[in-house]
Amino acid sequence: MNPIATDTVVGRYAPSPTGPLHLGNLRTALICWLQARLAGGRMLLRLDDLDRPRNQPGSTEQIIRDLTWLGLDWDGEVIVQTTREQHYQAAFSQLKKAGAIFPCRCSRRDIASALRTPSPPGTETPYPGTCRPENNPAPFKPGEPVAWRYRVSDTTLVWQDEILGRQIDNLARHPGDFIVRRKDGIIAYQLASVVDDALTGATDVVRGADLVDSTARQIALFRSLGYPAPRFWHVPLMTDDSGEKLSKRHGAESLDALKNRGMDASCVIGLLAGSLGVCLQKSRMSAAELALRLAEKECNLAGLLQQAGGR
Ligand code: GLU
Repeated sequence: MNPIATDTVVGRYAPSPTGPLHLGNLRTALICWLQARLAGGRMLLRLDDLDRPRNQPGSTEQIIRDLTWLGLDWDGEVIVQTTREQHYQAAFSQLKKAGAIFPCRCSRRDIASALRTPSPPGTETPYPGTCRPENNPAPFKPGEPVAWRYRVSDTTLVWQDEILGRQIDNLARHPGDFIVRRKDGIIAYQLASVVDDALTGATDVVRGADLVDSTARQIALFRSLGYPAPRFWHVPLMTDDSGEKLSKRHGAESLDALKNRGMDASCVIGLLAGSLGVCLQKSRMSAAELALRLAEKECNLAGLLQQAGGR
């Protein structure tokens, strides 16, 4: 695998086409775009559509329409993960050859019953190592459905988030050996994202703070595949009036709903910038005007986002 050589910033926005983007997703997209553009860099748009059962018909087109309407542009073709399976398979083979992954037949229930203490609600159950080769699992039959897990090491992994600062993780404690290919054959987000970020030469991964937990896994995969890890920016999630984070599942307002309320693109950008404390609430400006304003003020985007945390 040969990544595109680059010494400039390459940012990427990577939504999943699982429904319309809500205001929180759009704020992340705006920050991602600002980060790349203020640095004079390239901006990529990637659609994370590997988990086909979760894709919503029409969602890809709508995401492209919404970003365009907001004036958030990108360079080159849209990167569509379902067209890139050969790259994920190549990385999978590389990991397999290196002995970095192993097959696993455990169901969620098997994992839960192998653990003496059930994990607290809302947390991921750490994998107990049942199918690790050294634990001599029963031989795998040809054609038996198996997931493939990445073998983690019990070491402290320290990394720097551009917004959240120093992060310390130990993958053996959480989440344990993690899945890179699911039993249904679908390449897991962790591996696909790393392969794409490596091959597209992404230097900066800007995404919602809900994904901070994936980063240690991804750094381990970058290292195993022989790529440098990009910089990571986990941006604060937008909350509603009651302090709940906005989510597609809980019916957060889509752009169409805002348009139906008569808002144009400059109102929406003003609203998002206002929520970050960059301008007064109810200001109106295009994305390009916002970028210009921030460039003129020589604003430090990371510092600004640190202050916006929780807003
Ligand atoms: N597709 C992921 C999501 O929409 C984001 C992936 C990423 O930015 O790494 O949550």
